[in-house]
Amino acid sequence: MQLCLYDIAVRHSPKFRGLRPVKLTLEMLEHERPKEYVIENGIIIPASKRGKSISLEEVEKMILDIAKKIMHDYQYGYDRNTKKCDRCPYRFYCT
Ligand code: SF4
Repeated sequence: MQLCLYDIAVRHSPKFRGLRPVKLTLEMLEHERPKEYVIENGIIIPASKRGKSISLEEVEKMILDIAKKIMHDYQYGYDRNTKKCDRCPYRFYCT
């Protein structure tokens, strides 16, 4: 998802007008090799050919859905479940 967000940012930024990402690479310090994907005809495909491919359209829908949920929670608040919150890695950022 993170790499897809960067892809969308590049495609929609006036600064990168006319450019289309064709390769996505995520360096992870705890892994020896980076995660690499290629974008072909709007589909994000693992460069290793192992793993699941996903369309950019699907990812954009997922992101929009999450954004709507965040907006809803921002406007109307949300219930904090203490059991879940106690183990949540975001608890220090969550108000
Ligand atoms: S602390 Fe984590 S689980 Fe609890 S409300 Fe915040 S984000 Fe959700």
